[in-house]
Amino acid sequence: MKLKAFHKLSYGLYLIAAEHQGKKAGYIANTTFQVTSEPPQLAISCHKNNFSTQIILDSGAFSVSVLKKEVNMKIIGDFGFMSSTDINKFSGINYIKGQSGSPIVMDSSVAWFDCKVVKSIDLGTHYLIIGEVIDTDEVSDDEPLTYQYYREKYKMYSPKNSPTYIEKSKLDDEVQSIIVEERDGETDVTLFDGKKYICAICGFVYDPEEGDPTMGIAAGTPFEELPESYRCPICNAGKEYFKEE
Ligand code: FE
Repeated sequence: MKLKAFHKLSYGLYLIAAEHQGKKAGYIANTTFQVTSEPPQLAISCHKNNFSTQIILDSGAFSVSVLKKEVNMKIIGDFGFMSSTDINKFSGINYIKGQSGSPIVMDSSVAWFDCKVVKSIDLGTHYLIIGEVIDTDEVSDDEPLTYQYYREKYKMYSPKNSPTYIEKSKLDDEVQSIIVEERDGETDVTLFDGKKYICAICGFVYDPEEGDPTMGIAAGTPFEELPESYRCPICNAGKEYFKEE
């Protein structure tokens, strides 16, 4: 089985939110898709261990905000890599309350859908949850974020509870074998010496060869020469949270 084949599947990136008895929860998802038009229904896939999953099932409702291409990375960091049990993800976030009772995040959103749960299907690690859309709005004309753009720009992988998670070491094995194949064929491939640094909080990878243009770090800047004030562009963790990959 070729794991990289899974990366050829196209997705967007969405912020799913719900609220039950005053407890708000939200997470970032790529598996959100329309499954019927009459009535309009969306499907989402939620890991059973996620705090948000129980809130969605208990409240019987959820919202989907479609994220824009130039998304505020703090939203990705907080909603994608932190747990609602540890931080209040909605602090400082602009959101409205939908008809379903779910919070609807407006920051970095181009459109939203307010949904009532009509069915959930047990898939083992995840529930596939079907929601009927009861309200929507378009927020801006900005381009929506695609999963491919996110992965290429930020070199990020799916977090462990994502339905599309692939163990990184297995992917690296495939990449390594491609490099070896290309070298055998005398293709001009520069083997990178491999020193990259990974954020222990969110999994962002700092590649010295490319620097970090989002944080004003020039290509070719060794990790050791990053300023002490350097922060992970995704989750805002300091340098001390990075370790050699
Ligand atoms: Fe990080």
